[in-house]
Amino acid sequence: MNEMNIIPHSKPFIGSSEIEQVCKILASGKIAAGTQVSLFEKYFSKFMGLKNAAAVSSGTAALYLALLALKIKNNDEVIIPSYVCTAVLNAVTLSNAKPVFADCNSDDYNISAEDTKKKITTRTKAIIVPHLFGLPADIKTICSFGIPVIEDCAQTLSADCYGKKAGQWGEISIYSFYATKPFTTGEGGMALSNNKKYTEFIIDYINYDEKTDLEPRFNFKMTDFQAGLGIIQLKRLPDFLKMRKIIANKYNKAFSEKGLLLPVSYPEKEHTFFRYVIGNVAKIDKKLSAFQKKGVTVRRPIFMPLHLYLKKKGFINSEKAWNTSISLPIYPQMTNKEIDKVIEIADDIL
Ligand SMILES: *Cc1c(COP(=O)(O)O)cnc(C)c1O
Repeated sequence: MNEMNIIPHSKPFIGSSEIEQVCKILASGKIAAGTQVSLFEKYFSKFMGLKNAAAVSSGTAALYLALLALKIKNNDEVIIPSYVCTAVLNAVTLSNAKPVFADCNSDDYNISAEDTKKKITTRTKAIIVPHLFGLPADIKTICSFGIPVIEDCAQTLSADCYGKKAGQWGEISIYSFYATKPFTTGEGGMALSNNKKYTEFIIDYINYDEKTDLEPRFNFKMTDFQAGLGIIQLKRLPDFLKMRKIIANKYNKAFSEKGLLLPVSYPEKEHTFFRYVIGNVAKIDKKLSAFQKKGVTVRRPIFMPLHLYLKKKGFINSEKAWNTSISLPIYPQMTNKEIDKVIEIADDIL
């Protein structure tokens, strides 16, 4: 198969305004963190309806710094789902806290509020709630437990969620602008909060120069040309999200009669379709390679549940999701021809 004909799992959209803007910033000679980073922080926090922002070098860095801002330290327990990428576990491990896993829901794959509640002890100091695949988690319930919550919005930006937006519930929310995320700066991340003390802590932490003390600090800064790219991408985000919905609706229609577990919809939570995940699929390894042979890149939505890395047992829904879910290609500039090809081949294989 010609590489050009393979439909990727996801793909960033970079237009000519992005290229012009980045070139302009490079030509200005001011390329490290400066005015563009400040502007990006201002526009993005305004878009998200939160007061304070700290732009950083990645989503993982934002998660790690959010934990430090909450004063998480040795032997504190931090609850995270098992069914999520290792970035979340890495941030907890790096902060020296003890990760405690919660299982996911069986139908929408987000962290189970019920299991989270069961895992709370006197040592629980934070809960990280990732909103997976574009769908907000049960954040309203989890915030009612009274433990500080970090919302991981790397996959789910600004989705309506019980009268607010995903990202507006926790103490701190974090974002990733990696190439495949809802919009991109190549690599990059942000932490937002209505509480200034958290973002001020992060901004101080990532700026080591001209300090009179030797408190631990580390450079996790974003550059001005990444921020300039982010400012243009952010303007396109509403259109990106619209396109994702159109594609998901086509998939929903095409697969509705096949007895598969399609993305769940809730009246009070908006699905923004970062991923289009289908569950209840048997023999997925065979099916993934069948898709690849036909030139369509289909993936496991999560590479491996975290509890399996640590040889832990008892996360039934996470294991079922891992064994029976697949993620179809979805990205804003997918052409009708590509969408039709995915539908035709999926119809054949599933
Ligand atoms: C991508 C992602 C991250 C990590 O972001 P990076 O920018 O790649 O470090 C964290 N959490 C979730 C849910 C993600 O999807």
